[in-house]
Amino acid sequence: MLLDGKVALITGASRGIGKAVVELFVENGAVVYANARKEGCFSNIKNKKIIPLYFDVTDSLACKNAIMQIKKEQGHIDCLINNAGIMKDALIGMVDMSISKQIFEVNVFAVMELLQLAARIMKKQNNGSIINIASIVGEKGNSGQLAYSASKGAVTAMTKTAAKELAPFNIRVNAIAPGMIDTDMFRSIGDERVSENLNNIGMKRLGTPEDIAKTCLFLASDLSDYITGQIITVDGSTII
Ligand code: NDP
Repeated sequence: MLLDGKVALITGASRGIGKAVVELFVENGAVVYANARKEGCFSNIKNKKIIPLYFDVTDSLACKNAIMQIKKEQGHIDCLINNAGIMKDALIGMVDMSISKQIFEVNVFAVMELLQLAARIMKKQNNGSIINIASIVGEKGNSGQLAYSASKGAVTAMTKTAAKELAPFNIRVNAIAPGMIDTDMFRSIGDERVSENLNNIGMKRLGTPEDIAKTCLFLASDLSDYITGQIITVDGSTII
């Protein structure tokens, strides 16, 4: 029960990594506000510790209302996980600027918005942990991912800057850089490329959403209470 008494907001919790984080956090005693775009997508969940919050993370007003609702209902917010993300690949010459802007809206500006909103509450508490889901491509680059890798590079830089600015308030800001994780997003590249990519993973398996959730658990818990500004790679030794 590493998160007993803690309150967390997890974006993009309808599936993939976000869903696994919700499950592990609740198992560890947290009250979790689970964000999804599709109204009613958590209607089959009966656990009272999972509270659905339906909104699009690119909607500034909805982000503000969500943070205010959590503060009003719980009195505090201990952890924000900026997980929602989109990936659309294109080779140089074919990169569409409107799609690139969309990628930045979700992967960068929404993260910035929620980080600011949560930090305001966390400053008053003098406590908090913000975890951004970046990517190994944000640090290493990857062919076909000009916009996506740039967006994740921005998340990495934002994490380091926010960590410096918020450390005096006892707010920790870290990022996780996953490698290839077995979710809809990764599978969208097609079976052939999935098999090719497996050869580039030292541990010879894709990561699971739970591999990332466990790292989130560590960063949200007091086990990591002197760790901030770090980008933790979770990739089973991947070469890209
Ligand atoms: P999935 O595509 O499986 O899930 C993405 C989640 O983000 C979904 O819940 C989706 O909701 C949500 N989402 C997307 N846009 C919005 C939005 N505008 N508002 C609210 N929610 C939104 O991806 P993963 O679980 O794989 O990815 C999670 C994070 O991990 C992302 O940030 C991704 O970039 C990152 N990552 C993933 C890697 C991988 O190999 N899988 C590797 C490196 C990083 P909906 O169901 O409504 O579409």
